[in-house]
Amino acid sequence: MPSTVRTLKLPSGEAVPVLGQGTWKMGEDRRRRTDEVAALKLGLDLGIILIDTAEMYASGGAEEVVAEAIAGRRDETFLVSKVLPTNASRAGVKRACENSLKRLSTDRIDLYLLHWPGSVPLSETVEAFETLKREGKIRHWGVSNFDTDEMEELVGLPSGSNVQTNQILYNLSRRGPEFDLAPWSLKRGIPLMAYSPVEQGALARNARLEAVASRHNATAAQIALAWVMAQPGVMAIPKAGRQEHVRQNVAALDIKLTREDFAELDRAFPPPTRKRGLEMI
Ligand code: NAP
Repeated sequence: MPSTVRTLKLPSGEAVPVLGQGTWKMGEDRRRRTDEVAALKLGLDLGIILIDTAEMYASGGAEEVVAEAIAGRRDETFLVSKVLPTNASRAGVKRACENSLKRLSTDRIDLYLLHWPGSVPLSETVEAFETLKREGKIRHWGVSNFDTDEMEELVGLPSGSNVQTNQILYNLSRRGPEFDLAPWSLKRGIPLMAYSPVEQGALARNARLEAVASRHNATAAQIALAWVMAQPGVMAIPKAGRQEHVRQNVAALDIKLTREDFAELDRAFPPPTRKRGLEMI
């Protein structure tokens, strides 16, 4: 277990761990529920107190799994949830948030994200988020799956610069954001939250990563995670339904990749040389 979990600062000044826990696919199968709750609890025990969920996941079922895992320890948890773009109107955001709060058995969400850009005017969603903040139902808000032009639009809106993060698909096999979105975000102090950091498990089976992993007595998945967490202004939220994976993910915080490792990883997964539209899963 690492001595301390590294943190980074949100624009609000609040520190959050660079490693969190994802929950997509949790809450879908009753038979896995005990393991999922145990995995999330273990993560909290090991200091990865940021939990990412969404109203979309298992149609609210993932939020209920999270509620069970954080029961009695709400104050030590940093809860992230998301509203669907179809619920992003003024009234829709209010209703969706209240439903999420019920399922999460809490009175507040620490960071509430718009899941991806939709057809509701962004200014209306931002106003709805700001209202929720004033009511104490959310503490901060952010966005997800926003490309650079969409971030530009957002920060130009009234209160738009209150955005605390942009949660995006980012891992060794999805390096497109490095071309402009990552530098743009870093320059403005808006952290990126990398989802699918092990490409939904695919990078855990990658031979090029295994070669690097063997030098660190680590696994390929740990190298993939260590690489994401080594990027400035980036946090990672792997989903692990197994306690063994949670332990490995936390241990990845202690992996120090060398210059040689980074060079080898660049050869295996070249950085982008031109703008590509932001991918999403
Ligand atoms: P991921 O975290 O890249 O991969 C999850 C898969 O990797 C699971 O099958 C998990 O297995 C496995 N895994 C985890 N740690 C491992 C380890 N140390 N060794 C080997 N395998 C490991 O993919 P993801 O779930 O798509 O993304 C993470 C989270 O990001 C999601 O859960 C969700 O919270 C968020 N997300 C957000 C969006 C968005 O649009 N905003 C989209 C996708 C995801 P077990 O479960 O069996 O342990």
